[in-house]
Amino acid sequence: MAITETEALVLRSYNLAEADKIVVCLTRNSGLVRAVAKGSRRIKNRFGAALEPFTLLNITYYQKENQELASMRQAEIVRSHFNLFRDPDVLTGLAYIGDLVVEFSPPHQTNDKLFRMVSACLEAIAECPEELQLILRYFEVWILRLEGFLPDLRRCADCNHSLTEEGGILLSRELGFLCRQCAQGKGEVLSRRAYSRLCATQVLSPQFFVQESRGLSTAIQGELAELMHRMIGRVLERRPRVQLAFPSGRV
Ligand SMILES: [Zn+2]
Repeated sequence: MAITETEALVLRSYNLAEADKIVVCLTRNSGLVRAVAKGSRRIKNRFGAALEPFTLLNITYYQKENQELASMRQAEIVRSHFNLFRDPDVLTGLAYIGDLVVEFSPPHQTNDKLFRMVSACLEAIAECPEELQLILRYFEVWILRLEGFLPDLRRCADCNHSLTEEGGILLSRELGFLCRQCAQGKGEVLSRRAYSRLCATQVLSPQFFVQESRGLSTAIQGELAELMHRMIGRVLERRPRVQLAFPSGRV
């Protein structure tokens, strides 16, 4: 039986039997971990409020070989985000993040970059909940990239030449980025502004991305949201479980 101590973000939890919960966490050391927190539904329990979604914890858990469920031994709150739960849009956004992390990351696969990216997005939402949509776009681009599904943003998917905003960027049917020559009059045009925001996610933290993207028109926000939605739908082969309202107000 292996004991692990690690930082962890609670993504979701559900009830198990009368007194227990199963907690799904993204951990820094071991990726996605599902653990039983025994007795956590009793009024007096050693976990207190630690198992609420999107709480950053230090946890200790046991993992038996060949068993999917670990056993949570201790959980200590490092940072809680209860204040965010008042806003229903933020709550939906957080559930969406949790859902995609669970969908995209295989269990027990260490991915420190993913852990840092999700934590950074959470901090950014805590700082500017009013910019939730921009932070969700940032999260979507990065989860695609970290799991290997983001098409090359800088090079044409066909001829491999560098793409430039000035030259025009088009989307192939497979949602790759094409130069104007390779698109040969076909393909959907990606606006310059949307393309430059996509590229900006690659070099900025979520906070700076939000700062630089403030005032982005609803049309461009909608364009980005729709593109990300399609890319994610392509990978999952279905619509995400948690449905977000688009910036244009469309669902
Ligand atoms: Zn090309």
